[in-house]
Amino acid sequence: MKRQGSVSLGDVAAHGTHIDVACTRCARRGRYHLARLIARFGPDYAMTDLGSRMSKDCPMRDSQDFAKRCDVLFPNIIAMMYGEAPKPAADDCVGDDDDY
Ligand SMILES: [Zn+2]
Repeated sequence: MKRQGSVSLGDVAAHGTHIDVACTRCARRGRYHLARLIARFGPDYAMTDLGSRMSKDCPMRDSQDFAKRCDVLFPNIIAMMYGEAPKPAADDCVGDDDDY
């Protein structure tokens, strides 16, 4: 089920054919066909849920030490969704009196 404000498989598939997956805490690296993921989970499946699912077999998933726990991410998702240089959100400008 798609959560409000979350990026779904369908959102990502509109920008590419594959998604890279990596874990910051273990050697996990991979690349998945978005069409296959959508066939399995549906286009509204949240990327955050996909990350959790993909960490299921990580040896560090259930580590008691939060700093060592598996941390699956999608290294190229920002570049896919927004291009190489993502624009900061408008409300990122805290304490800045730029032209607005
Ligand atoms: Zn991991």
